[in-house]
Amino acid sequence: MIFFLSFIVISIYAQGPDTFTEIDVLHYSGQVEPDITNKSIQGKVIIQFLIKGKDQGKIKLDCGELIIESVHIGKLAVPFDHRNNLLLLPYTFKKDKRVQEVEILYHGKPRWGINFFPVLEEVYTVFSTAQWLVCKDSPDDKATLELSLIMPSGLQVISNGDLAQETPLGNQKIMYVWSQKIPAPTYTFGFVAGHFTQLTEQRGKIRFQYFAKDHSEAELKQIFAETGAMLNFFEDHSGVPYPGNVYSQVLTEGNVFQEMSGFAVLRSSYGKQVLANALEINLLAHELAHQWWGNQVTCLDWNHFWLNEGLAVFMSSAYKERRFGRDEYLKDIDVYLKAYQKVVDQEMDKPLIFSDWSHPTSDDRTLVYFKGAYVLHLLREEMGEKEFWNGIKLYTTSFFGKSVITQNLQEAMEQAAGQDLNAFFSTWIK
Ligand SMILES: [Zn+2]
Repeated sequence: MIFFLSFIVISIYAQGPDTFTEIDVLHYSGQVEPDITNKSIQGKVIIQFLIKGKDQGKIKLDCGELIIESVHIGKLAVPFDHRNNLLLLPYTFKKDKRVQEVEILYHGKPRWGINFFPVLEEVYTVFSTAQWLVCKDSPDDKATLELSLIMPSGLQVISNGDLAQETPLGNQKIMYVWSQKIPAPTYTFGFVAGHFTQLTEQRGKIRFQYFAKDHSEAELKQIFAETGAMLNFFEDHSGVPYPGNVYSQVLTEGNVFQEMSGFAVLRSSYGKQVLANALEINLLAHELAHQWWGNQVTCLDWNHFWLNEGLAVFMSSAYKERRFGRDEYLKDIDVYLKAYQKVVDQEMDKPLIFSDWSHPTSDDRTLVYFKGAYVLHLLREEMGEKEFWNGIKLYTTSFFGKSVITQNLQEAMEQAAGQDLNAFFSTWIK
């Protein structure tokens, strides 16, 4: 079998450099079973997609360092090639079918993208989805997800969207089926499992869930007390209701802050910070803001990443202004300016639209997060209060569920301002 596969691969190479057929993924149906003790996973995914444009050659998927066991199109096992973290499939799809489907079996011991804590019996994913779910891992392709997670019984399990099903498997394991019905970018796919104290609050149609392993329910209530007001603030200022029925926040082991569709994981010690000082809410607000800016209004590619991060940082301070007053907002802005100024002083300033975000430095990250937020503050000053927020609303409502580049933000802001903002965008952003 291996010889046969090698022969196919060689014959493909012999035809010259790779060309790829563009695809648009509609839905992932995944099943993942983590082995927390051995820090490994076993998985299966069915990917439904459309062929975009004409047949240009192979289909390309992201699979990190996962070991691919088999690929099936319908009942047919097809040969595949795995190199440079890509799974390459021959173009053998039926032309008369609109929605194509491929099934992939895999396993692996991911080195990143998923964090295991065997002693605590805890596991969660962080950012690099292709390390645990074979997918088209690019921010411009949103898809729905049904994720079945097979976990040891006794753990709390949180994932994207709604918990649709919970089935005991009879071997001390439970299968949890989570369903994300609103298309989301793959980098916001994920899950958490562990032993947590849980507090649930229903407010209107949204269920807020808070999880931590070393806090009481009363402490959870205090740490996450602002969540409801934050969500209302972002709904009002975006013009778009929260996209889902559940929002979960989980305080986990490790140094992590990661938004995912419908939930966020935050490092455990952060809870203590908020308990000690109610002003320390920026990160909670930042991750929640991503449910609009990032998860739904998503940068087309990582060169426009500042549209995700600059907005999330800025929005956390805008909420703080509403909650604690103008002075606290201005203190935040000053922190952002100082962080940015440091990069300028080292002559490492760059436009916010990057020419290549594949290997960002820590200075590059400072620019995207803090110069980004500072520049939005300057734009607010330039445009005036009413016009600025009208612009944010126009931008968010126009591009919710879509991909954006900086030009989209500029055009929305110009429309709201009733003036050309090219001088501002050329000075600070482009
Ligand atoms: Zn962020």
